[in-house]
Amino acid sequence: MIQQIPVLRVCISCRKTYDRKDLLKITKDHKQGIMLQKGMGRSAYICKSKKCYSDSKIKKKLQKALKTSLETEFIEIFEKEITSYNNYPH
Ligand SMILES: [Zn+2]
Repeated sequence: MIQQIPVLRVCISCRKTYDRKDLLKITKDHKQGIMLQKGMGRSAYICKSKKCYSDSKIKKKLQKALKTSLETEFIEIFEKEITSYNNYPH
């Protein structure tokens, strides 16, 4: 019997470890720029707790983790995305 080992990643905001599928992945893709849940390149993970994604410092933390500057529009898209995830049944 093969046991499935979850891939663990750390939330950049609360620094807690979660199963990767429970996190929102933000990637700085080499070709397409910032992407959510896809893309190849430097990535950061954020858990779906409101405390984390609505953190006033989240933009700064993301910029630091991804080593890039983010547009305000991106934060809006990102918030919409993560809020919609919270509405999905688990
Ligand atoms: Zn978190």
